[in-house]
Amino acid sequence: MGWKSAGDVFASGFVLLGLTLAARPPDKNHPYGHGRAETLTGLLIGLGLTAAGALISYDSLRRLGSRA
Ligand SMILES: [Zn+2]
Repeated sequence: MGWKSAGDVFASGFVLLGLTLAARPPDKNHPYGHGRAETLTGLLIGLGLTAAGALISYDSLRRLGSRA
């Protein structure tokens, strides 16, 4: 499994988690509900995919460098 598919699985898992959390009714700790979980999840996915992309780029550049 490469970085790309690992990133996809990671993102899908977080989307599912975010939707599940956002769908929960308000409780004692979160009297206004959990709608913001979706926003946070989107942010986390963005950060995660950015990090994965940076790692892929770094890996490619390093391989290019070692071949020269
Ligand atoms: Zn809660």
